[in-house]
This record gives sequence, C-alpha cells and structure tokens, in this order.
Amino acid sequence: MIKTLPAIVAALAGVVLIGLALWRWHDHGWGSLIWLIALIAMFVVRTPHSLRNRANVVTQARKDATEITLLAGMFLTTMVLPLLYLATDMFDFADYAAPDWTVWIGTLAQIPFLWLFWRSHADLGRNWSPGLEVREAHELVTDGVYDRIRHPMYAAIWISALAQPLLIHNWIGGFLVVPAFAAMWFIRVPHEEAMMRARFGEAWNAYCARSGRLWPKRYYDGAPS
Ligand code: SAH
Repeated sequence: MIKTLPAIVAALAGVVLIGLALWRWHDHGWGSLIWLIALIAMFVVRTPHSLRNRANVVTQARKDATEITLLAGMFLTTMVLPLLYLATDMFDFADYAAPDWTVWIGTLAQIPFLWLFWRSHADLGRNWSPGLEVREAHELVTDGVYDRIRHPMYAAIWISALAQPLLIHNWIGGFLVVPAFAAMWFIRVPHEEAMMRARFGEAWNAYCARSGRLWPKRYYDGAPS
C-alpha cells in the first residue's frame, strides 16, 4: 500500500496531464499531437512486459545514486516536462521557432522508433528490466534485433530523443531529453556491459566480437557464432 499509493497518484496525474495535453494540442502545433500518440504507443508496447516481468526474481541489481539520477533525468525529460509544457503555459517562454519540415522528420522518425522499441522488448522478453538487473535464469539474447547490435532498445530511444525537439519546439519540454539520454548512454552502457560480461563471461565476449553497440560491425558475414 505504501508503495502503491504514490504510484496510483502518479498514474492519475499522468492521465490528467495527457488528457489536458491532448485537449490543447493545437496550441503547440501538430508535432505535439504526434509526440503524444507516440508516448501512448510506447506505454502500450511496454506495459505488458512491465507487468509480466514484475514476477522476475532479481539476483543482481545496480541501483546506486548515478543510476537513480539517470533514470530520474529520463523520467523528467521524456514525460514530466513535455507533458507539463503541453498541458499548461508554464514553459512557453522557452519556445523556439523551427520550420515545418522538422516536424515531418520527427514524425517519420516515429516509425523506426516504435518498430525497434516493440521488437527489442519482444526479443528481450523476460530478460528486460527498466533498471540494470540480472534475473534468476537470465538468458543472453543474441538473435532478432539483438543479432548484430547490442543496444537496439537504446538505439530506439536515441531516435525518439532526437525526434522530440523536432516535434516539440521548446528547450525545456522538447530539447532537454537529448542531454539526459546522452548522459544515460555514455554512463550507463559501460556499466551494463560490465554487468553482462560478469554474468555471461565468454559468451558475452563472443557476442561483442561480432556485434556493434549501435551499428552492426562491417565485417560480420552472418555466420552463426
Ligand atoms: N541495452 C539493451 C537492453 C536495455 S534493457 C538495449 O538497448 O537493447 C536493460 C536490461 O536488459 C539490462 O539490465 C540487462 O539485464 C538486459 N540485457 C541487456 N542486453 C541483454 C542481452 N543481450 N540479453 C539479455 N539481457 C540483456
């Protein structure tokens, strides 16, 4: 109860903000409507995995101040600040002007983003967690969208983060996610890879030898490792 009450209050606040933002989308241009639809699609993709993976038994978790700060930064810049901006007038002073084609590029980017976001959750399955964790019976996934790159979910989030300031023309509600996710990427990925190496040893090293972090390695010939 102590844990669920704040979660219920936060969820209700989120629903109210999303409702207000949807109601007022024309105040901030059609890019804000595309961003809201993509946010809802993200929830639809992620929620079944979050619910199912709550049953996981976690054997190792990295929840230090750095990890908590990075996750809080992402929560603020991908949800709280954009929704506050779209639902109210409080950050209007930080608007910037951008041409309409930026909104088109941001919109087109939602297609690879949502596809990769969906596939990476589907391929990781029970092994996915929002924080850095290893679960009991954790399996190393090296197929599907994980075949040639090790961080397809972060690749998807990169696309989404870079598209957000193209859809929402505001330094606080749109742009801030770029430095927040850059910090997440540069600080978290080495920790995550070290955790995976400690858990999977040679299998992880062999996977690294044939895959890239975000881009496939050029010499990889498709032979199974
Ligand atoms: N970095 C990955 C996964 C992000 S989710 C991506 O961008 O697609 C983070 C969790 O996924 C980590 O805590 C780790 O437990 C798990 N994970 C990351 N790579 C994995 C892999 N190849 N196989 C299984 N689990 C993995």
